[in-house]
Amino acid sequence: MRKLSSDTLLVATHNAGKLEEISKLLAPYDVSVVGAAEMNLGEPDETESTFVGNARIKAHAAAQATGLPALSDDSGIEIDALDGAPGVYTADWAETETGRDFGMAMKKAYDGITSKQAAPPWTARFCCTLVLAWPDGHDEVFPGTVEGQIVWPMRGEHGHGYDPIFRPTGHDVTFAEMDPDLKNRISHRADAFRKLVKGCFD
Ligand code: IMP
Repeated sequence: MRKLSSDTLLVATHNAGKLEEISKLLAPYDVSVVGAAEMNLGEPDETESTFVGNARIKAHAAAQATGLPALSDDSGIEIDALDGAPGVYTADWAETETGRDFGMAMKKAYDGITSKQAAPPWTARFCCTLVLAWPDGHDEVFPGTVEGQIVWPMRGEHGHGYDPIFRPTGHDVTFAEMDPDLKNRISHRADAFRKLVKGCFD
């Protein structure tokens, strides 16, 4: 496993919510974080059908473009009643001509579940794959998950994306109702991060 020796890490995301979560998770470590937008990087097409495939595309493109080690995150929600959808298409479900609409995406998930007449609990998980890529083409891969269930109607104001309809196992509140610090300790991203830190930072 290769260790991170650079004091600057590029986080290859244009998603402000993700960048904020990742920056908080990296705060205890001696590394300065820069975002893809700050470096004027484009967004490569995510053409793979797996989280790891898409995370690799983003991390390698950013590392090649900047000469910095680059960390990417590909993530999404898998709903068992929908055979794992939206999965890698989680962000696509929110696309509209005028930008992303997560209210619409969450309604689509709920409508899909009810149209299948799936009995609750509607089990689901958030998945996150982190890829740390170096400019020489090497990479390390860290998958993370958090199990839970879909609730309806949407609940809570915190967070981003599908947080208002996801209640993690062992908690009464959705991710959007939860204290963000607690979410950052139990999330799929936190799970993947623990593995990243153990592998590349310690
Ligand atoms: P990506 O940017 O292609 O990885 O898309 C990930 C999608 O999953 C986005 O639509 C996010 O909103 C959603 N997603 C990932 N992690 C979370 C989370 O922690 N909470 C809510 N939605 C998430």
